[in-house]
Amino acid sequence: MFDSLDQVPGKLGFIDAQGNTRQPLPAGVDVAWLQASYQHMVRIRQLDKKAVALQRTGQMHTYPPCLGQEAIGTGIGLAMQDDDILVPYYRDQATQVLRGVTMQQVLQVWGGDERGNLFTGVAARDFPNSVPIGTQMSHAAGIAAAMKSRGVRQAVVANCGDGATSRGDVYEALNLVGVWQLPMVAVVNNNQWAISVPRSLQTGTRTLAEKALAVGIEGLQVDGNDVVAVFHAVRTALARARRGKGGTLIEAVSYRLSDHTTADDATRYRDAAEVSRAWDYDPVKRLQTWLHASGHWTPAQEQALLATVKKEVDEAVSAYLNEPPQAPDDFIAYVFAEMTPPLLAQRDRLLIRLARDAAAQGGDSHGQ
Ligand SMILES: [Mg+2]
Repeated sequence: MFDSLDQVPGKLGFIDAQGNTRQPLPAGVDVAWLQASYQHMVRIRQLDKKAVALQRTGQMHTYPPCLGQEAIGTGIGLAMQDDDILVPYYRDQATQVLRGVTMQQVLQVWGGDERGNLFTGVAARDFPNSVPIGTQMSHAAGIAAAMKSRGVRQAVVANCGDGATSRGDVYEALNLVGVWQLPMVAVVNNNQWAISVPRSLQTGTRTLAEKALAVGIEGLQVDGNDVVAVFHAVRTALARARRGKGGTLIEAVSYRLSDHTTADDATRYRDAAEVSRAWDYDPVKRLQTWLHASGHWTPAQEQALLATVKKEVDEAVSAYLNEPPQAPDDFIAYVFAEMTPPLLAQRDRLLIRLARDAAAQGGDSHGQ
């Protein structure tokens, strides 16, 4: 009942689930590129695993794993140019880290620390994760409209899940992209489940990509577990967008191998055999197989990579756990660029309350 993870006619793919090359690799994709992609996907998988462990041990809040979908975020991140703008949703860790968001910041965000959103470098122009479903797509269309009106050769990448495509916000945003020919690339991570709702109950259309037809933009379906396919589709769509040729809707077909978030238990609604089958299409494994088979990856390189990644992730976790607490009013301070009168009033009430509590305990409120 779910969207085929196999290669089907019309779905873009270069490296299949068995690690075989299906067609000549696109320009710019060579062995060094594939090795770098593989290494990043392994980094993200280890970070993801550690984040779940932190949540399970009470050291982080709810976390949305990206297990099995690492190729989508990696392909997008490698396809983007520095001056493009990323409008991510909550499963875009792989793209964000490629844009310069640190692993520590990824953990901070899901630990409720606003400092995790203080991006620097290339990522400073990007938006923070959107947790509301689909609302980020209209923000992205607004950014793309600003780019067009200013006449700059830039583009926006906006991502969402399969479930978000049922939201009015997403359709309205894509409609604007079509009617105004805006430089926006929308990538739908079709991981086949919107929490407990399967893709087959989200829409009556055959694919999510064909929704592009209704709004007059380009649309295509790619193998979301093939990092080369995602990279090529996004890079091509971004080039079109920058040339003023309008937007694209890319449906990246993948599978959510994890629970929706750590607050979910997918065993309550999902068949274990289905999940087991989906593991055969693992995006990390197929790239490893390709590299091994072509003589471009050795067990020694694998061991060295795992050691490096372990060190990197451990250091990020240590930095996250040892960071002094954020200011107690941070969660109010970052809602808008400038605080509104109601927010200022809320902040004042909070600070008065904290000062009163601290006085009652005979201490002060600093560092609480
Ligand atoms: Mg989904």
